[in-house]
Amino acid sequence: MPRKRKNFEKIYKIISRCLIAVLLLCATLYYLIIGETDAPGFSHGDVYTAQDMEVHFIDVGQGDCTLLLCGESAVLVDGGEAQYSYSVLQYLDNHGVDEIDLMVATHRHSDHIGGLVGVAQEIPVCRVLMNDDNAFVDTDTRTEIEFLSVLETNDIPVDIARYGDVYAFEEMTLTVIWAGADGIENENEQGIVFHCQYGESSVLLTGDIGEETEDTLLAFDYDLQSDILKVAHHGSNYSSSYDFLRAVDPLFAVISCGYDNIYGHPGAETMGRLNRGVPYVLRTDTMGSIVFYCSADGKIDYSNGKDVS
Ligand SMILES: [Zn+2]
Repeated sequence: MPRKRKNFEKIYKIISRCLIAVLLLCATLYYLIIGETDAPGFSHGDVYTAQDMEVHFIDVGQGDCTLLLCGESAVLVDGGEAQYSYSVLQYLDNHGVDEIDLMVATHRHSDHIGGLVGVAQEIPVCRVLMNDDNAFVDTDTRTEIEFLSVLETNDIPVDIARYGDVYAFEEMTLTVIWAGADGIENENEQGIVFHCQYGESSVLLTGDIGEETEDTLLAFDYDLQSDILKVAHHGSNYSSSYDFLRAVDPLFAVISCGYDNIYGHPGAETMGRLNRGVPYVLRTDTMGSIVFYCSADGKIDYSNGKDVS
């Protein structure tokens, strides 16, 4: 064979191998980016940068603490265990929050209201939203007594949550879509659930509800679709049913839990359901505090709170 032709065949082989490699790489990237995230029944837009409403999932170990900021307004939902009071106050201070317009106690377990006690002691709180005391079967715990006592001492007005209550702060509205019901003995299932809307951006905060309440919400004539979902009960296996996740159809799911916690949160089954259908599953135990920036036209970006505090 002539030398020129041999060289030509060598170059041809190299080029075709390169082309195959590029095609394989493109196919893998397509599968990773499109194939993995576009699970059946879920549809999502792109992620952009926006800063109009901020949603902070503050790292309080094994507990919940969410801060919603819109313009000059601040809404604090739960505060983790009492030992996190100081770090929550410091976080608020770092973000220029020196007054809480609305403090929400989703339910009265210590990993939700413990940290609120110190906050209510140190900075002004305009109003507290919680659920009906009569709905609880347990005797008040020490944390509940402390919480109720600081509200009384500081003369903070308390609203008892009712289904359909709406609170508006600037362009951000919070709608109570669950506030417990008579005859339910599990305090987790009595927790307040609300939907927060800012233009086309939305957040669903679910406290520690389980599948029982999720099923009740699915039966309501309320559109649960939300861009950001605070995963119920720290990612417990007994929450976040596939039907519920499909109805909420979130772009982001946030699990608030402590690293290596004794409850095994988040549960492996819940992680499986989330990873199958939700494009971004974020966890405070591995990422620390997580902040979302939401614009009125539905564009959402997020960052690790430790970088921006
Ligand atoms: Zn909890």
